Amino acid sequence: MANGICVYAESYKGKLEPVAAELVSAAKELKKTTGEKIQAIVLAEDTDGIIADLDKLGVEEIYAVKAGRDCSQQDDAVSKAIAEMLKKIDPSSVLIPATPEGRSIFSRVAMKLGCGMTADCTEVLVGTREDGSYYIRQNKPSFGENVFVTIITRDGYYPQMMTIRPGVYAPQEESAGGQAKIEYFDDIKVGDSKIEIIEEAAAENETGSILGAEVVVVGGRGVLEDDNFALLEKFAEKVGGAIGGTRPMVDSEMIPFNHQIGQTGLTIRPKICISFGVSGAIQHTEGIKDTKLFVAVNTDEDAAIYGVADYGITADLKDVLENYLKL
Ligand SMILES: Cc1cc2nc3c(=O)[nH]c(=O)nc-3n(C[C@H](O)[C@H](O)[C@H](O)COP(=O)(O)OP(=O)(O)OC[C@H]3O[C@@H](n4cnc5c(N)ncnc54)[C@H](O)[C@@H]3O)c2cc1C
Repeated sequence: MANGICVYAESYKGKLEPVAAELVSAAKELKKTTGEKIQAIVLAEDTDGIIADLDKLGVEEIYAVKAGRDCSQQDDAVSKAIAEMLKKIDPSSVLIPATPEGRSIFSRVAMKLGCGMTADCTEVLVGTREDGSYYIRQNKPSFGENVFVTIITRDGYYPQMMTIRPGVYAPQEESAGGQAKIEYFDDIKVGDSKIEIIEEAAAENETGSILGAEVVVVGGRGVLEDDNFALLEKFAEKVGGAIGGTRPMVDSEMIPFNHQIGQTGLTIRPKICISFGVSGAIQHTEGIKDTKLFVAVNTDEDAAIYGVADYGITADLKDVLENYLKL
């Protein structure tokens, strides 16, 4: 019978991607109810460092394939080998980062295994059937990010596979390690790929800049008036912060979608967040409530944002920004 919560350990040039630590946190939450082992699969040219890092995160069983070559972006060949790994491991669920790599590889894996895959979950919870067995409730925004849906994998279509949005789970902290059972599948080979990398280029507007920022300056609808956004940009530059925003900022194309904060956007954990002209709707504050120091500026003294902020300034954001920029 399928057993185990299996994490896909995404890596780049022999290094574990930070999102893997978030997936291990999600797996540990699920394990509290299901009691299943936490597993990880690794497929890379150089697996040693990746395995050592997974061990420190408390993964109990690590299954690895040494690819024998750099196979990054070769999703056709990699997905075939991963499908073979999963057939051998037979986990009940697979947690995958909702990154371009995770989505591309595992949509192919799902086809090969004849199972489903839920994309872009923002929460995974355990449900219990009448017979006492468990399943995963895969919550995600849907229909143009306007409603939340819960997806449940049908019996007979296991493993339950789901991609999880980076940032929604806090990363698992490292420990000394040394406890994991490690198994190499030497009989699984990464075959030839039809994909050839011609050139690599850094992405513009990449989300990482806001996910990793210690200071985030958030703009809401109040910033849309006059030249307020230009002031906000100057302010962000002065304090060394990344710019995030609410949905109206994205709808008005002031910021890209990958800088929207909230339930259907990013979940961020900066040291300092300063928000301007944001009302504090729960769909937004869910993505920012774990900020260490939160300052909010709003003209409305009853704004809901003050419920999550540590300090509130009831004032016109234009005055606050102009005064600060004069300093
Ligand atoms: C299913 C669903 C998912 C959603 N997901 C998200 C999400 O991920 N992220 C998100 O942000 N939203 C999301 N929303 C939308 C959310 O409900 C709110 O509508 C949105 O967050 C409001 O954005 P806002 O605070 O910028 O605008 P408003 O609610 O219009 O607030 C603007 C605020 O600015 C203040 N203000 C105006 N002018 C000034 C000024 N000159 N100086 C100071 N303050 C001023 C006003 O007093 C007001 O409080 C979602 C909605 C749904 C239904």
